[in-house]
Amino acid sequence: MSVKRDTSPAQRIRQDRLPTMWCAGCGNGAVMSAFVGAVDRAGLDWNRICTVSGIGCSGRIGGYLRTDSIHVVHGRALPVALGAKLARPDLTVVAFMGDGDAYSIGGNHLLHALRRNDDVKAIVINNMTFGMTGGQPSPTTPLSALGGVERPSHGRGMFDGPTLSAIMGASYVARWTAADFTQLRNSIERALRSSGFCLVEALSQCPVQFGKRVVREPAEIVKWIKDATIGIDEAASRGTTHGRMLVGEFAVPGEGLNPKLLGLIKG
Ligand code: SF4
Repeated sequence: MSVKRDTSPAQRIRQDRLPTMWCAGCGNGAVMSAFVGAVDRAGLDWNRICTVSGIGCSGRIGGYLRTDSIHVVHGRALPVALGAKLARPDLTVVAFMGDGDAYSIGGNHLLHALRRNDDVKAIVINNMTFGMTGGQPSPTTPLSALGGVERPSHGRGMFDGPTLSAIMGASYVARWTAADFTQLRNSIERALRSSGFCLVEALSQCPVQFGKRVVREPAEIVKWIKDATIGIDEAASRGTTHGRMLVGEFAVPGEGLNPKLLGLIKG
């Protein structure tokens, strides 16, 4: 016998789990809120969503949402999400991962999910550090932050998951900051509506662990992240990224890789 859950707006977050364990000013809540809004806008049945999350502060999202959820070991959200999708193709399966989860420990799983074009939606909360374990550098930590230099800079050596995903043929790929709430929610909605592998990355502020490398004040680190990004359209019109991280839609269904992105990569 199936049991119908109460999925009224107030019940989309597990009230008994509140308050969250997240620090004041953390961007994880904004990403979770964008996801809730995206599910509603996409008109999905909350009873047919399975969330899978790995280890880390952002990995708690799966536990806070009132969906069927699986909390797995570090870096293994994608293979478990694929297993859930194969067992229950009627479900929308969403993997929440941090940058360490998706691009470091789970990086190989990402490559093969892209190769197979698994029908899984990946939401990567990229706070540019291993937050839960004390702020160690991750594959996305900017070189400028490693030296404690307060200068937003992408720099070489920073793993670019959205560009990789778009080049490898993901159905839908986008990156925004956690402060770009409307764009982030709309991109998650578009990913939820698309078939095949989709990846939406949110550049999220971690004022506590990443902040100690740059600036701790939440409002200031949000500004730091915004200053470290540039829209794909603007970068294309200037012919350069100015060493900043691109935000926007990297690939869309039916059109594939954003041609403006290709020009910037070659540049
Ligand atoms: Fe958020 Fe960073 Fe605190 Fe983790 S350590 S909850 S990522 S602010």
